[in-house]
Amino acid sequence: MTKVKSMGGMGFRDLNLFNISLLAKQCWKLLQNPKALWARVLKGGYFPKGAFLNAKQGSRASWVWASLLQGVVLEKLTDDNHDLHQKVAELMTKENNCWKLNQIRRYISEDQVKAIQSLPAYSRGQDKMVLTGSKDGNYVVKKGCHELKEKVMKEVERRASPSHNVNGKVWKWIWSISLPQKIKHFLWRAVGNLVATNGNLVKRRIKMSELCPVCLKEAETVEHTLLLCDWAQCVWYGGALGFKVDCHRITTLDQWLLQVFDVVLKGKKNKEWMEMIIAFTCWHIWKSRCSKVFKGRECDPRKCIERNSARMGEAPEWLD
Ligand SMILES: [Zn+2]
Repeated sequence: MTKVKSMGGMGFRDLNLFNISLLAKQCWKLLQNPKALWARVLKGGYFPKGAFLNAKQGSRASWVWASLLQGVVLEKLTDDNHDLHQKVAELMTKENNCWKLNQIRRYISEDQVKAIQSLPAYSRGQDKMVLTGSKDGNYVVKKGCHELKEKVMKEVERRASPSHNVNGKVWKWIWSISLPQKIKHFLWRAVGNLVATNGNLVKRRIKMSELCPVCLKEAETVEHTLLLCDWAQCVWYGGALGFKVDCHRITTLDQWLLQVFDVVLKGKKNKEWMEMIIAFTCWHIWKSRCSKVFKGRECDPRKCIERNSARMGEAPEWLD
């Protein structure tokens, strides 16, 4: 849920990552002002001889110190384990004022090497630590949080089993369409396979049977419920769009939606209206299915189509 919306999340701020970013800001202050009283106290207690970024927590760390070290995670998550203490002055020879870039060549591109070599190699003052990518070289909590989240997400995705990735266009569509939030959230869950179908409930060991509660013929997946179940096919065919669901070509809901956007709706004048019908149809099919499960009401394609039409008729009331 904390992923950005275009990546299939809900855009919530991750408080844990935000806290770590705040701590990283304190680490940055400590690196910038090593002579400040609080920095000297910490140095005396926890890294009297070494450097802050290499300091260890130790067994008797105070809460403040242990927390601060969490902020260092921002640096530890960087891809390259480069020497963080390399100073510009150390990359110059004092004798003949030229650059010695061999130590950092593997971290920078050939163009960057050329750009550095075009600068005069002499030191006019003290080295200063700056962060690349920020306007004034200082640490910004919001940006740090964003970067940290991206790094963590990449790491999670790298470790995750290679299940299919939902195309970004589908997420974008869900959040951009003019629909009530509850329908957007439902679509978000459906595309992410987070809907409580019997198939998903069996996987979580909540139910014993994954059979579709409507047709009792096949396993209930999101695709089966919304597109493939016989009665759902009737809803699509009998509805305003007259869609004939091609059962043999459906793999996942998001792939089906992509195909509909890119092929069926492409260039259509009333594309937005058609997109809303698709979203409403998915929503009402799911609502009917839940009525069947929880209230024992039969799924009637005709009633579902009528509900869709009624909602489309009242659309202007809730459209922005
Ligand atoms: Zn079924």
